[in-house]
Amino acid sequence: MSETILVVNAGSSSVKFQVFAVGPYDQLERRMRGQLEGIGTHPRLFARGSAGETLVDQRWSAQEIPDVPTAFGEAVSFLRAHGNGELPIAIGHRVVHGGPDFTAPTIVSGEVIKKLEPFIPLAPLHQPNNLAPIKVIHEKHPHLLQVACFDTSFHRKHPAVADYYAIPDELHTEGVRRYGFHGLSYEYIAGQLPDIAPEITSGRVIVAHLGSGASMCAMVDRKSIDSTMGFTALDGLPMGTRPGQLDAGVVIYLMQQKGMSADEIERFLYKDCGLKGLSGISNDVRDLLASSEPRAKFALEYFVYRIATLTGMLAAAMGGIDGFVFTAGIGENAAPIRAAVLQRLAWLGFDLDAEANAAGASRITTKNSPAACFVIPTNEGLMIARHTLNALRAQSIPLREEKLA
Ligand code: ADP
Repeated sequence: MSETILVVNAGSSSVKFQVFAVGPYDQLERRMRGQLEGIGTHPRLFARGSAGETLVDQRWSAQEIPDVPTAFGEAVSFLRAHGNGELPIAIGHRVVHGGPDFTAPTIVSGEVIKKLEPFIPLAPLHQPNNLAPIKVIHEKHPHLLQVACFDTSFHRKHPAVADYYAIPDELHTEGVRRYGFHGLSYEYIAGQLPDIAPEITSGRVIVAHLGSGASMCAMVDRKSIDSTMGFTALDGLPMGTRPGQLDAGVVIYLMQQKGMSADEIERFLYKDCGLKGLSGISNDVRDLLASSEPRAKFALEYFVYRIATLTGMLAAAMGGIDGFVFTAGIGENAAPIRAAVLQRLAWLGFDLDAEANAAGASRITTKNSPAACFVIPTNEGLMIARHTLNALRAQSIPLREEKLA
């Protein structure tokens, strides 16, 4: 039986999990991935093994799995049964908000949980759900190592001008700042650059994480200096169902003229806008690319336009640009979107290699292109597993030394 690390990503309607086996020299290999989705509506547990085989496909009524802790309990029962009762050697959790001070993955303790709870109002849809499984495990298995890995940490060294809003300072002090998200994805890509794109590794690079959530990160020498996301994951690029950058006056309008409550506005901004709202057809880029409807075309045109204009903003923050990386579901798979973006970025020195792009190559600009563009698949789960294993190994170093002594 090999040692395993469990990676957990608990959201408002799903608990996603991955199991990594720890091999020789601490190489990590994914053994399984799954999720319990539809919590409180149509709960369904689904998991696949490393060869893609289905390991479980089970459904419940909404009342049986009403919340995240119950869903997590069911997922753990399945994992236990599947792992012959063995516990993982450690659990890594994706936690959306580390606030201003959590600048690195952190080993969970009662005190750490207490320090993370005040960030719930900063991310009410995500933070409580991220913390729920952490608390369950901490109560049931206090000696099992848990590591919280934050989406915000990678961005915590932004210069002050990128971190502030032009609002009175008390609000900044209480946490109203431009945090930036998708940090685990950006950190993973930063780690891949030396192998895949050595010529831009120490340069000025924009990484575009284009999935159902979308943002871009400006990296200089692989460190984040700015991001398109701010206080919440609503800002910046348009997304599947979120609008991206929006004049705060629109929110006032919705309250005053439409009589919408805070909860209604929240649901509207997270669920009904973006590509879905603009096209009136779908939030999925695959559907929009396949559609001949003018609204679908316009939604994609708008998406590309915003990527290009915000690239200008981030290039200005870096004082120029040497490279661009596409990642996540859309970035990795949607060649027509990548082509349209690069055509708009020609003025910054990106010369699209149309054939390489259509063929799904890793480098998609021509040899002589002054700036280089790459497609690099992201792997946030592996990043969390690595952080978790590192924390475990770092903890056990003194023990080993004691033994040797
Ligand atoms: P998340 O992890 O945030 O749920 P992903 O990174 O998996 O999101 O991205 C999901 C999105 O990627 C889908 O909503 C879809 O728009 C897009 N996508 C996935 N595959 C393709 C494809 N082959 N072509 C175009 N878009 C795709």
